[in-house]
Amino acid sequence: MSKGSNLHPSAAPSLELVAKLETESVPFIAKAHIPSMFGDFRVYGFLEKQTGKEHLAIASGEIDARKRVNLRIHSECWTGEVLGSQRCDCRAQLEAALRHIAQFGGLVLYLRQEGRGIGLLNKLKAYTLQDHGLDTVEANHQLGFEDDMRSYECAVEMLRFFGISKVTLLTNNPKKLEALLARGIHVNREGHQVGQTPQNLFYLKTKASKSGHLMCFGDDEDKR
Ligand SMILES: [Zn+2]
Repeated sequence: MSKGSNLHPSAAPSLELVAKLETESVPFIAKAHIPSMFGDFRVYGFLEKQTGKEHLAIASGEIDARKRVNLRIHSECWTGEVLGSQRCDCRAQLEAALRHIAQFGGLVLYLRQEGRGIGLLNKLKAYTLQDHGLDTVEANHQLGFEDDMRSYECAVEMLRFFGISKVTLLTNNPKKLEALLARGIHVNREGHQVGQTPQNLFYLKTKASKSGHLMCFGDDEDKR
């Protein structure tokens, strides 16, 4: 059996990988083809060295950095994406984005910053506070967090890997727009409002009224 100097070449880190790990904050590590129920994707894995988080870029079609690229920046939501939780709109947003890039080409950057960056366990605590009458922003504050702890620096680094500088961004969140614009990415915004349910309507309206999300709720008083 092989051991020691007989290790398969792929078992040892390449010189190129060692150099990337030393110089890049979010180096590309691995890539795979994933045929999925939404389309045929290439998934690129990146490592955020500072936190150890593994972020993903899901690509469909040709990514031509000379052209404007369709882009969704999506933050992980275990409750929505795995359980199909009706408390938020994350799963519907992710699925709509995957279908969109499967049809038109583009990228979904899947960032591992659960619960708007507070982590899954703290999100469970926040949900219990919300069940006792607090809204999503108040609950985060009561737990000692900002209402939104997410960062999009990783997304910018991942776009740099592909050489992308012009995007059509599927989002309702002005902070994502600002984060990309501040780092020199040219952004056109396309609204991405899907997945409204009776159970998440108050949550969505709180995101609009307190966090500035660009959403429309029909003819009621929250139209914006
Ligand atoms: Zn969610």
